[in-house]
Amino acid sequence: MSETKDPIETARAFVTEGPKKLFIGGKWLSSQSGKTMSVIDPSTEDKLADVAEAGFDDVDLAVKAARQAFESSSWSGINPHERSRYLLKVAGLIEKYGDELSAISSFEMGMPFEMSKLTTAQMVDVFQYYAGWTTKIFGQTIPTDGASLSYTIREPLGVVGAIIPWNGPILYASWKVGTALATGNTVVLKPAEDAPLTCVRFAEIMEEAGLPPGVVNLVTGPGEIVGDALVAHPDVNKITFTGSTAVGKHIMETAAKTLKSISLELGGKSPFIIFPDADLKKAIPMAVNAFTLNAGQACTAGTRLYIHQNIYQEVSAQIAAAVSQLKLGGPFDPATQIGPIISAKQLDRVSDYIESGKAEGAQLRTGGKRLPSSGYFLEPTVFTDVQDGMKIVEEEIFGPVGALSSFADVAEAVFHGNNTPYGLAASVWTSNLETAHTLASKLQAGIVWINTHFELDAVSPFGGYKQSGLGRELGAESINDFTQSKTVFTRY
Ligand code: NAP
Ligand code: MG
Repeated sequence: MSETKDPIETARAFVTEGPKKLFIGGKWLSSQSGKTMSVIDPSTEDKLADVAEAGFDDVDLAVKAARQAFESSSWSGINPHERSRYLLKVAGLIEKYGDELSAISSFEMGMPFEMSKLTTAQMVDVFQYYAGWTTKIFGQTIPTDGASLSYTIREPLGVVGAIIPWNGPILYASWKVGTALATGNTVVLKPAEDAPLTCVRFAEIMEEAGLPPGVVNLVTGPGEIVGDALVAHPDVNKITFTGSTAVGKHIMETAAKTLKSISLELGGKSPFIIFPDADLKKAIPMAVNAFTLNAGQACTAGTRLYIHQNIYQEVSAQIAAAVSQLKLGGPFDPATQIGPIISAKQLDRVSDYIESGKAEGAQLRTGGKRLPSSGYFLEPTVFTDVQDGMKIVEEEIFGPVGALSSFADVAEAVFHGNNTPYGLAASVWTSNLETAHTLASKLQAGIVWINTHFELDAVSPFGGYKQSGLGRELGAESINDFTQSKTVFTRY
């Protein structure tokens, strides 16, 4: 990445100058109420910045701007090559400012800087990938009788409301905005109140890329007000949401009133299944990563670890030992492996789960305590002797907590893997092809990894089975989710 100034210092200057404004119709505006809200640095508990706190009127203004842009010839009238060039321009700018964006994200989320850089690199891929799609969105010609012609056209939906969580603003903003722009829609983006700053810088990049005013708008504010107003708004055609299953269900109910199209990427409780013939040198470090990466705040975290009974004692001991060695710290300390939890509220929630695990009789093997220093740091935690029915196995914790138990054979692995209302992801560790593909077919999850975990690529669809979601992002399938098909039938 090609900046000359220190990107961390540039990011620090960006986050501390404020208050950050809303980006609506190509203009930077304060909220109409004049209200602002604070963003906290989770690794110090200090205030980082103030951002505008939007209300219903601001959301309405943003939707109007997005509608106007959607209908204007400067967006709907341009050809797919021009749309592609906009997306490539955004990709180029994200690359140019990549380290700064990564640092902003690290400031507001506490994510280790090196990891943040990896997600920013994926963001570039995503925009380049979607730049390729603009020229490849086709309808079909459909055989009819000789005196008629029937064909379909894939058209954009209109105004898309994109609501994203705090655990990966860079990634989720790019998935949603990339697809929406490739398909010719316009967007109102609403980041999480705990981590809105990366998206403010992202909106500046949209402006620098020269996108027509109103094509991408940004509204910051609490979900119950700003998110809800966007979902309820009659002139929003689609909501693309990433977040918790509880809020996803609420969105589905609200969206029903105006019959909006919705895509939901929700929570997970993904199994990580280790067979005795697995390459343990690879499986064990990834098992540790599976529930500690990003302090466990990952939707595809492998939090239910099923280890074959013949290797259970030894593998669980090795996982606990490795987890106890992980170094907690601030995002810019190169030694840091695990950052803080996003907020005091989330830290309390995760701590309550740890207490429930102890109370329900699981064995705490390592971790479980908050660090005495400032910042929302929680020791990564391993429980063994975990039984189905315990809260730590049933519910998504969204913190660095692994629940380990054993299984006897393929049938039991499948049973445990699927014994959850969630179905986002699963990983299977084995050197036996038959075991691998039997599990790949029987596990009810939107993504099954074999001898890997967390791998994503813009080219492959991503989304959940069961209560982990509705619709798919990325890959060719996302294009259908952001367009609608019109049939034209002509009789000669
Ligand atoms: P969350 O509480 O559901 O929040 C997600 C987003 O929804 C935030 O922008 C939030 O705004 C907004 N929101 C809250 N209430 C709303 C409402 N009534 N109407 C409309 N929007 C509303 O989730 P979170 O705690 O931020 O994130 C953690 C969850 O996200 C976990 O369950 C995790 O598994 C899931 N997740 C899923 C994926 C995936 O791709 N499947 C990826 C990452 C995370 P405010 O925060 O500003 O209130
Ligand atoms: Mg909230």
